[in-house]
Amino acid sequence: QVLPETWRLRADIDLAALRSNVRALHERLIGGAQLMAVVKADAYGHGLVPCARAARAAGAAWLGVATPEEALALRAAGDTGRLLCWLWVPGGPWRRAVEADIDVSVSARWALAEVVAAARAAGRPARIHLKADTGLGRNGCPPADWADLAAAARAAEAEGTVVVAGVWSHLARADEPGDPSIAAQRKVFEEALATADRAGLRPEVRHLANSPATLTLPGTHYDLVRVGVALYGVSPSPEIGTPEDFGLRPVMTLRAWLAGVKRVPGGHGVSYGHRYTTPGETTLALVPAGYADGIPRHASGTGPVLVAGKWRTVAGTVAMDQFVVDLGGDSAEAGDEALLFGPGDHGEPTVEDWARATGTIGYEIVTRIGHRVPRVYH
Ligand code: PLP
Repeated sequence: QVLPETWRLRADIDLAALRSNVRALHERLIGGAQLMAVVKADAYGHGLVPCARAARAAGAAWLGVATPEEALALRAAGDTGRLLCWLWVPGGPWRRAVEADIDVSVSARWALAEVVAAARAAGRPARIHLKADTGLGRNGCPPADWADLAAAARAAEAEGTVVVAGVWSHLARADEPGDPSIAAQRKVFEEALATADRAGLRPEVRHLANSPATLTLPGTHYDLVRVGVALYGVSPSPEIGTPEDFGLRPVMTLRAWLAGVKRVPGGHGVSYGHRYTTPGETTLALVPAGYADGIPRHASGTGPVLVAGKWRTVAGTVAMDQFVVDLGGDSAEAGDEALLFGPGDHGEPTVEDWARATGTIGYEIVTRIGHRVPRVYH
C-alpha cells in the first residue's frame, strides 16, 4: 500500500491486541483443543498477511479462509502451517491447493471427484475436511447423503488420493445462548461423526465452534475451534457480551482528520437530500469518510463519532467520501482528529456502538472498511 503524506482517514491495527486475543482465547479451550485463526475477507478488514502472521506468532496452529485465492495468498506470503479453505465452486484451483498443502473442505460428491482428480494430477494425496450440514442449511452435506459421501471419501483414502484430515460443521445460532438449535446441531454432528467412524474414517480434527461457541459453549470445542470475530476484539452479538467480558481487546481504530469546519446559519440544509437542517446558527465539521470507505449509508442520522471531546451524530446523508457532523456551540479546526471507533480508551465509540447505531453486526462494520483506507500496523 502507498501511504499518504498527510492523513485523511486511516485504520490503526493493533497487532499486540490481536496476539493478546489469541492467547486469551487459548486459555478458554477445553481438552487441548487447537485454535484456527479465521482470516478470510482480508482478516475481517484488518489485513490478511499481517494478521495471519500475528496469529501464528501468538500460537494459532491453524489458519482458516473461505476462498482458494485467500489460501494461495497466504502461501505466497510464506505461511507454511496448517491452513483450511472451505468455499469452492466447480472448476476451482484444487490442484494448486493440493500442491500448496492447503486443506480443503468437501461437502458433496462433485467436490470429492474434483479433488481426487487434482490429487492424481499432483501426484500426492489431498488433505480434505468433510463438512456436514447439521442444521445451518448453508454449505455442508445433508444427513441423507452423508453416509454415501463418507464411504466415497474412505474409498479415495484407501486408494491414496485423499487423507480425511477433518470432519466438521458450522452452527447457525451460537450467538443466541440457550437456543435449542445448538443442542440439535450438536446431536446431528455426533451422528455424523459416528457414521464417519463406521465408514472407517479417523479424522485428526473434528470441529464445530465459531467465536460465540468458543466463548460460551465449551462442549462444542472438540479438537479445534475456528475463531474469527473474537480474534479482532469484536463481540459476536450483544447477547454474548462485550469484548472486555472475555478479556478481548479491539484491534482496529478508525480515525479521520477534519477536512473543514464552518459556521452556518439556522435552517441550512446539510448533504444530499437535505435530510438534516441546522436548528439554529451552528458549526459544521466535515469528516472525510464515506460509504466508499465502508461507512454505512445507514449511518445517516445515527452513526456516532468523537469530535472535539464529545460524541456527535452523522448529520444528514453519508456521501461517497465524506459526511458532516454538527458541533453546535463547540469549536474545532480543520485537521483536528475525529475518532469513529476504537477500543473506547479515549471515550470514542466502539464497533459495537456502530453496529447498534446502524442496525447491523460488528462483523459487517469492520469487514466493509474499504481498500482505500490505509491500514497502519502497530
Ligand atoms: N467457520 C466458518 C465456516 C465461517 O464461515 C466463519 C465465519 O463466518 C467462522 C468459522 C468464524 O466465525 P466467527 O467470526 O463468528 O468466529
